[in-house]
Amino acid sequence: MKTDYLIIGHGIAGAVLSFQLLQAGFQVKVIGKKGITVSSEVAAGLFNPVTGRKMVKTWHADPLFAEIEPVYRKMEALSGSRFLHFQPIYRPFTDRAEQNDWASRQGEPAYAPYIAEVFDKPRHQPYVKNPFGGLLLKQSGWLDIPTMLAAWKQYLMVQDSFIEEEFNETELQVEETFIRYKGTEARGIIYCNGTGIMESRYWHWVPLRPVKGEVLHLHSSIQLDEIINRGVFLLPQGNGRYKLGSTYDQRNHDLNPTEAARKEMLERLASLIDMPINVEGQEVGIRPATKDRRPVAGQHPQHQTLLIFNGLGTKGVSLAPYCAGILAAYLLQQKEILAEININRFFSLYYS
Ligand SMILES: Cc1cc2nc3c(=O)[nH]c(=O)nc-3n(C[C@H](O)[C@H](O)[C@H](O)COP(=O)(O)OP(=O)(O)OC[C@H]3O[C@@H](n4cnc5c(N)ncnc54)[C@H](O)[C@@H]3O)c2cc1C
Repeated sequence: MKTDYLIIGHGIAGAVLSFQLLQAGFQVKVIGKKGITVSSEVAAGLFNPVTGRKMVKTWHADPLFAEIEPVYRKMEALSGSRFLHFQPIYRPFTDRAEQNDWASRQGEPAYAPYIAEVFDKPRHQPYVKNPFGGLLLKQSGWLDIPTMLAAWKQYLMVQDSFIEEEFNETELQVEETFIRYKGTEARGIIYCNGTGIMESRYWHWVPLRPVKGEVLHLHSSIQLDEIINRGVFLLPQGNGRYKLGSTYDQRNHDLNPTEAARKEMLERLASLIDMPINVEGQEVGIRPATKDRRPVAGQHPQHQTLLIFNGLGTKGVSLAPYCAGILAAYLLQQKEILAEININRFFSLYYS
């Protein structure tokens, strides 16, 4: 059996890359099994153009956010599903100074496309604590990742492009111009298996810095219609259901939910909202982040039939469409990979 590229892993990275390669005219086969690494399945799926305590535009926001809608909408159309939800993010101000700062920044051309409105009075009363008003962001929202992964897997299966099993690297034969895996021959294999690359004999040198994260599933009789975000995010998912997240832990990489994370999130939430909530569940994942917090894409330093698309870290939803498009353009037209995401920035680690 022949194909152009074998993709390992069906998280956000593998799913979106398979889409971009199909769009570029390649044949692909995705080998994926749920639960070997866990990140996409538990992520809240938020995409937010202005982030962090300092509230600045996220890295490369303009090109990244331009790709979100075309890519996920096309995936929805092909798979006959619905998973991209645009929703404003409301960020309460901490004080009058922050309010003034944003009142002047909203006219700046760099920020204007992402600001829906700057409020100097409280909103969502009496449920959200925002005495100084807040910033309402647009071009934001969330991707229902489990729905996307299930629908896209179905789409690939109909085309005989999905193999549901665990990939076993010891059965991989790597040659100069092709690879062979259990009877399938391809011009290359692309590792999209999240933190799984840490165990790969070919990719273990890539400097991943996994970050454990936890989210809570909540229910409330109060239905908010915007994502509330300050210290934590509260994501309304309809019918009184919410996701609350998330935590960042670089020291522990087990998949056990912790009381400490639950407490931290609920304490932060208490300073943000005043409404009845019930905790209905807790989930844990491990984000595949890199040392410099940028994705990695490109070819292995020694074997050109081995490729990688990984390191999506904390922002897989917004990074994947644009960055997977870059890798597809490289494979199709040898278009140079953006230096900040090119795996070659870490080649010295391979040779040392
Ligand atoms: C608590 C939490 C909250 C988050 N919130 C957000 C958010 O709001 N917005 C956002 O953009 N990002 C968020 N993220 C980050 C996001 O989840 C990641 O950026 C993204 O999911 C990484 O996707 P991936 O495909 O690279 O890796 P993974 O999701 O780990 O996917 C890899 C897939 O490959 C499979 N696999 C691994 N090894 C093998 C093998 N040998 N054979 C077969 N299959 C294999 C795994 O089982 C998995 O299905 C969050 C993460 C966590 C943990």
